[in-house]
Amino acid sequence: MERLYVELFQKMFVRGAALITEKEPYLTEIDSVIGDGDHGMGMKRGCEAVGRLLGKQQFDYVDELCYGVSTELIKTMGGASGIIFGTMFFGGLSKLGHKEYVTAGQLSEYFMEGEQAIERRGKARPGQKTMLDALYPACIAMKQAASQSEDVIFLFEKACQAAEDGAEESKNMKSGIGRSKNFKDKTLGLPDPGAVSASLWFRAFCDTVKENG
Ligand code: ADP
Ligand code: MG
Repeated sequence: MERLYVELFQKMFVRGAALITEKEPYLTEIDSVIGDGDHGMGMKRGCEAVGRLLGKQQFDYVDELCYGVSTELIKTMGGASGIIFGTMFFGGLSKLGHKEYVTAGQLSEYFMEGEQAIERRGKARPGQKTMLDALYPACIAMKQAASQSEDVIFLFEKACQAAEDGAEESKNMKSGIGRSKNFKDKTLGLPDPGAVSASLWFRAFCDTVKENG
């Protein structure tokens, strides 16, 4: 698949929002041990709003779709992670272009630019047990995939694998930023809740393109 059309991109977001909503109990469980316990509910609130938005509006252009999703997350989630997950889909908008489709190369730049925007905003780096520990490896994997192939399915397969590995790896990290830094040693052995959420987006994106490709 060399072009990801806006209809399918929209389905990917619908699936991601549904998956994160479904996993709310697990996100709540881990954030209750290593954070303040609100991550699952915050993500669920944002994702339900995204689901409602995408249920009533079909977007014609990829940049408008991603703008719509990101602003809905920022508006409805609140807290640090509202800005963070909103920025994940907002920060790289300029890389998408105002078109009905995007290519693998554009997608890899879009996500990388979003990741960089999160680093700037949150003053965090990968390695501090945050969602960046899933998102950054996914962006690197996408950059590499896009340099090898124009296939969007291959791109999301690589992204998903790297994001899931990254979330798993975050189990071995001690929290260095955000609320969970107060829990330091207690955070060992559990994945970062935000890293799990980021990996769930990529899991849903990958499954959707594979089923429709
Ligand atoms: P809050 O920190 O406001 O309680 P949540 O509990 O919803 O927000 O989200 C916590 C998640 O946000 C963490 O698991 C982590 O992945 C992510 N996070 C927190 N601070 C940052 C930051 N500065 N940069 C990137 N991600 C962050
Ligand atoms: Mg929290």
